This record gives sequence, C-alpha cells and structure tokens, in this order.
Amino acid sequence: MTQRFSFDLHATDGKARTGAISTPRGVIRTPAFMPVGTAATVKAMLPESVAATGADILLGNTYHLMLRPTAERIARLGGLHKFMNWDKPILTDSGGFQVMSLAGLRKLTEEGVTFKSHIDGSRHHLSPERSMEIQALLGSDIVMCFDECPALPADRDRIKSSMDLSMRWAQRSRDAFGDRPGHALFGIQQGGLEQDLREESAQALQAIGFDGYAVGGLAVGEGQEAMFGVLDYAPDQLPVDKPRYLMGVGKPDDIVGAVKRGIDMMDCVLPSRSGRTGQAFTRHGVVNIKNARHQDDPRPLDEACTCPACRGYSRAYLHHVFRANEMISGMLLTWHNLHYFQQIMAGMRDAISAGTFAAWEADFHALRAQGDIDPL
Ligand SMILES: [Zn+2]
Repeated sequence: MTQRFSFDLHATDGKARTGAISTPRGVIRTPAFMPVGTAATVKAMLPESVAATGADILLGNTYHLMLRPTAERIARLGGLHKFMNWDKPILTDSGGFQVMSLAGLRKLTEEGVTFKSHIDGSRHHLSPERSMEIQALLGSDIVMCFDECPALPADRDRIKSSMDLSMRWAQRSRDAFGDRPGHALFGIQQGGLEQDLREESAQALQAIGFDGYAVGGLAVGEGQEAMFGVLDYAPDQLPVDKPRYLMGVGKPDDIVGAVKRGIDMMDCVLPSRSGRTGQAFTRHGVVNIKNARHQDDPRPLDEACTCPACRGYSRAYLHHVFRANEMISGMLLTWHNLHYFQQIMAGMRDAISAGTFAAWEADFHALRAQGDIDPL
C-alpha cells in the first residue's frame, strides 16, 4: 500500500513544535530547513553531500525548471528526483513568486500570468492549472498553490485584492491537483501585514482544505520586526494538525524566531548563495572569509563544527581559495553553511522534545552576541 502523506506532532514547547512529515520518499523531521535547488541542483553541492548535512527535503523552483530544461523534458527523463539524483522528498514552489520577481513584461489577469523568460525573452504562461501540471510533471512530493504576492510595502486595497485573487487561485489549484495519494498540496496564506486579512485568508484556505499551510508574502522587504509581528499571530490562524511553512526565510535568527512562533518548515537560498560569496554563518555570527585578517589564520572557521570545511581546512586556506576564485571555495563554504543551518534545526528539535527551547534559544543568542573569535 502506498504510504500516504501525513504529519505527526511529537512535542510542543511554548508555541514551538517538533514532529515528522511522512511521505513515500521518506520522513521529514520538523522543524525542517529546506536547501534550495533552483535549477535541479543545490549549487556547488553533490546531492549526497546535501543529504549528509542533514537535509530531509529540498526545494525546486517551478519557474526556473519550466523555462530550462522544461518540465516536459524532466518528465520524459523520469522526473525531477531521478534527473537530479535526489531520492528524498522535494517541495516545488508554484512559480508565481518568481514570475513576479524575475520575469520581464508580465501581464496578470484573473486567468493567470503571461510573461517573457529572463533567459531568452520567449513568451510563457502560468495559471493555477498550468502550475499544477508542471509540478506533477516534475514529480514533486509537496506541491504549492499558485498565488500572487505583492511586494511590501503595499496599500491595503492592493493587499486585499491580491489576497482575494490568490484565494480564488487556491481553489483552482485544489481542483486541478486532483487526487494524488502520497503527494501533498499546500495552501498559501496571504494578507501582507494586516491581521484581519491574514485571518480571512486562513479561513478561506481551510474551507478548501489542504495538506499543509504556508505563510506567504513575508521576507519581501518588510524587515524582521514586521515579519515577527505577523508571525506572532499568523501560525495560530492555521490548523494545529498540519505543517506550517514559512516561505523564503531566512537568516539564522529569523529561523529561530519563526520556530519559536510555531513554524515547522522553511527554505532559503542564503546558506548556499552566501557560501559562494565568501560569507560563512557560524555560532558566533557571520564570518567574511575574504577579509585579510584570515590570511595567516591556521584555525578552522568554527572549532566546534564537524563539517568537512571545518575539519580539514584553515581560515587561511578558505581565504586563499576564495581570493583565487577556486571552485572549492564555494563548495566548502556552502557545505559549512548548510551543515550549520541543519545543526540549528537539529538543536531546536532536540530542545523542543526536551522542553528546553527557551534555554537553547538563550544560548544561541549569547554565542552570537560574543561575535567572531579574536584575530591572532
Ligand atoms: Zn563547518
């Protein structure tokens, strides 16, 4: 019998939750951080290395994959898991957000959006039905509703009309998704920074019924304080017994603050993108490896970290290969960053299980407040 998609909550500590999402392709321990594999690769990482950092699931981008190499080609080649050699769960976004942020010459109607590819200027169309079709062709385990998300700040009328459209598109997404045992469809709450619109959106989504619920429309320029302001109430507006996913977040302290407020899943390009630009996230905050202070430093990035970059290489070496534009620079720093993000998630899961989340969070902030180790 096919394993169905399910979510089990194991423990709560305050609003923080830990549990497990079961899928036919494996279990996702929550709270979960999903590395981003935009173009069917987490840049600079082999899939087995991504798994070795502790990732149970990664995210693929519908917008990028539909343009290149196309969803139809990936389907002919056996689906996204086989294509990119990743056999664990994959969540795909709907393409909506990236059309709004990346594509040229967009035209938005009730039906959907037509746009020009940022790669070659070719014309394309996305709608709830087409997004569901593409995500099915990719073989995604967790499919996201097609929605529209205005950049913030935006006035209330704009937020409201956009949210209403997204709710109509959520119903069309649900209808087009159909019955696919073992695969999940998540709805996306919108409503900007307006509590009553967030509530209206949460009610509309629950009337349709989804396997999980995302908090959308955040991490779009509103800042951490405003985001936490919404997260103080938004997760409570969503069902207790379904996963809650905060899209596109974030920095380590954003992630911890989101989990504290009841979020179960997150994704962000930050650990991989920063790895390629010489930025490392550590227990003591951000280290810029390009800084000249590291050029004679034989110590690892973080002596307590067990990742390959910290076990085998000095700051001096990481500084050198970054300055020399060697590929191993992005490989090692990406590995370290993904490992560190997964360590944060594992630490929070353990602390929530033990009922010690507040103490864990205090340690997390105290270590960061110390800053990086002193130069030699
Ligand atoms: Zn490390």
